[in-house]
Amino acid sequence: MTTRTPLLAGNWKMNLDHLEAISAVQKLAWALRDAKVDPESVDVAVLPPFTDIRSVQTLVQGDKLPVQYGAQDLSVHDAGAYTGEVSGAFLSRLGCTYVAVGHSERREYHAETDEVVRAKVEAALRHELTPILCVGESLDVREAGTQNDVVLAQVRAALDGFDAEALDGLVIAYEPVWAIGTGKTATAQDASDMCTGVRGALEEMFSAEFAAGVRLLYGGSVKPDNVAEIVEHEDVDGALVGGASLDPESFATLCARA
Ligand code: PEP
Repeated sequence: MTTRTPLLAGNWKMNLDHLEAISAVQKLAWALRDAKVDPESVDVAVLPPFTDIRSVQTLVQGDKLPVQYGAQDLSVHDAGAYTGEVSGAFLSRLGCTYVAVGHSERREYHAETDEVVRAKVEAALRHELTPILCVGESLDVREAGTQNDVVLAQVRAALDGFDAEALDGLVIAYEPVWAIGTGKTATAQDASDMCTGVRGALEEMFSAEFAAGVRLLYGGSVKPDNVAEIVEHEDVDGALVGGASLDPESFATLCARA
């Protein structure tokens, strides 16, 4: 049986500058130790703004802290005349493990289509970054009851044409748009039903063995008080956490309860 290491990833969005990031990561490491979170059995990561990553790298690598890190986005290009873009090659050189791809805020505010999301998955893999592929339905879709069709179509579009070997280590985060930053959480049943559906789609697209190895996260107003019931289901392997990851003590408590 495949065992999947749980992952709790904090998406800081556009919060905490590089000085605040140093303090937050240091406090997070202390709080994880105090909460007895075992780095061998759970992965804890932060996704800071680009401008913080060098500072986070220096701290994490210098002090050997049990915190992984990554970026919230990357360019589809590797280098060149793309003003404002950040290459996966640069993120890789900064020691990033993960990169979020297709977050709903990127899809909504930056018009990222499924094609762009797929190209970003490809760019991440080219630079040995683990994509955290974000998928999720809007409130309208949830109310119409077609969330499974929409989310599975996003998964299929983003992973179309890759072979399973190239996608080794892939993480997928199911984040219903109506639950992000709203305080409304999907029920544990909604989260687990969708994760089971995504795993089934991966099995159809690739193989049972591949599907069993992919870590599936839930994201959307996850907090220390609701994380335990969300990750209880066997198909939910952790959480992508926005607001509740900004306070290091609270995020460590959340990790300890997951
Ligand atoms: C997110 O942005 O990925 C997220 C899940 O945010 P929040 O936890 O604040 O809902």
